[in-house]
Amino acid sequence: MNINEVKQILNKYYVSVKKQFGQNFLMDNNIITKICDISNITKEVNVIEIGPGLGFLTQELKVRANKVMCYEIDSEMVKVVTNRFENDDNVIIKYQDFLKANIDKDIENYLNDKPVIVVANLPYYITTAILIKILEESKYIKQMTVMMQLEVADRICGKPSTKDYNSLSVLMQYFTTCRLAIKVGAGCFYPEPNVDSAVVLVKHKDIIDYPALNEEYFKKFNRIVFAQRRKTLANNLKQGFGYSKELIENILNKNNISLTIRTEALKVEEIVILANEFYLAQNK
Ligand code: SAM
Repeated sequence: MNINEVKQILNKYYVSVKKQFGQNFLMDNNIITKICDISNITKEVNVIEIGPGLGFLTQELKVRANKVMCYEIDSEMVKVVTNRFENDDNVIIKYQDFLKANIDKDIENYLNDKPVIVVANLPYYITTAILIKILEESKYIKQMTVMMQLEVADRICGKPSTKDYNSLSVLMQYFTTCRLAIKVGAGCFYPEPNVDSAVVLVKHKDIIDYPALNEEYFKKFNRIVFAQRRKTLANNLKQGFGYSKELIENILNKNNISLTIRTEALKVEEIVILANEFYLAQNK
């Protein structure tokens, strides 16, 4: 694929590129091949693609996978991919906002014969919302290969005591293992985004080593302890939850955690352990 071919398809179908839907079409065939290779796609898996756009990635997915189910929000792109794949009975196109989809119901209806993975060049304006929706709502999806803005990829894979480590890193690394697999320059897309991109391979953990006693509380705790990066963990806890100085000191001392530590210095499991301690203290 090159710019001229992309423009030809846009002209052929009389469709325009819509910035508001995060449309940056991946033109680089090598990257498409690499995405499919690292996803280990075979006829033994079904794939969900979020935002097929003009269908360049879909084309490779449908050859390798058992079935591909695509969610597309833009009616013009739906027209393009419906036409391109009208003779492929293993491609299912859904004209729908993915954020409103009932993922597991759709999987039960269309993809219930094989394990399901997600492979997508995500619309960047809703990357985090899409990842969190999948983590929270789908019990079937166990792996995702997703292209996103490099900065978000760095955060998702961020390690403690680095500038990239935040509540999103902790949430993702609690449920999954994440690996930044491919860095992708802006020139691989049409139109060029004004940021660099990266493909992240996300695998859901079968067993969570340090499980939260209450996941909803853990998620809230995780948000609150990172709310103000410049403040200490103790201050964030005091401000965010209104916990007493005494309770905070007791729990931090018990866990050998300095009262002056910043949250970013804590490992994921340390944050879970602390969340469990505060949860228990509140629910005695
Ligand atoms: N897969 C194509 C590619 O790799 O060239 C297009 C990727 S483009 C970055 C993102 C795609 O997601 C666009 O086709 C856009 O219309 C679609 N999209 C944006 N928001 C969406 C949403 N909420 N639900 C489903 N698709 C969406």
